[in-house]
Amino acid sequence: MPTVAAIAAFLEQIAPFRLAEEWDNIGLLVGHRHQPVKKLMTCLTVTPASAAEAIQQDTDLIVTHHPMPFLAAKRICNDTTVGRLLLDLIAAHVAVYSPHTAFDSARDGVNERLAAGLGLRNVTPLVPNPEGQGTGRWGRLAESTTLGQLAQQLKRFLSIERLQMVGQPEQPVRTVAVACGAADELLEAARDNACDAMVLGEARFHTCLEAEAAGIGLLLPGHFASERFAVECLAEVLGRQFSEVEVWPSRRESDPMRWG
Ligand SMILES: [Zn+2]
Repeated sequence: MPTVAAIAAFLEQIAPFRLAEEWDNIGLLVGHRHQPVKKLMTCLTVTPASAAEAIQQDTDLIVTHHPMPFLAAKRICNDTTVGRLLLDLIAAHVAVYSPHTAFDSARDGVNERLAAGLGLRNVTPLVPNPEGQGTGRWGRLAESTTLGQLAQQLKRFLSIERLQMVGQPEQPVRTVAVACGAADELLEAARDNACDAMVLGEARFHTCLEAEAAGIGLLLPGHFASERFAVECLAEVLGRQFSEVEVWPSRRESDPMRWG
């Protein structure tokens, strides 16, 4: 039976710490390194729903894309959501590991998988680091398409019915940037690379106006959809690597945003 430390070491190979943004809080965040792991749940976020699932299923380790805790805490009490979740998980001996931005930027990470799902070629980081890896991705489609067609492709890949779009469905697209989650600041890099379109998990209103003014089509599937698929892939990867461990992506977590 692998230990928390053994699984953490494998996760660090997949998503090396040096790829994480400097503000991030990644790695093993809660738990005993020598605890054996029989059950492992991946999820996008530790929420009351996903934490309750982990505890009810006797999970030994949660691998959550979003860190929990994320901010430095001077006290862990039951008067905040994070405090309550931490107390419950610790009492149930559930360890927590988060790869977050290291996984966003990894070779088989979220953005690389998004780029592949759109059929992009010659995929390179939007903001490269000295090692040639880096944040976000951009690449070129084999053939020109339209923003509307690209939106259809993205919806199929993410198994979603709707997304938000900035731009006209008929506008031509050949070069595309991708940045999962909330990454408004990467629009500038997409413009510098002369991208016709960009996929962002979510974007602020003024980022949408900037994109429109620059003639860059935006596709916004939602923060949840832009990353949740990758924690399902991660569960598969972990299940293959550690065949004696029962691994599953959280069945109870869901997008808090709904169409009204
Ligand atoms: Zn995110």
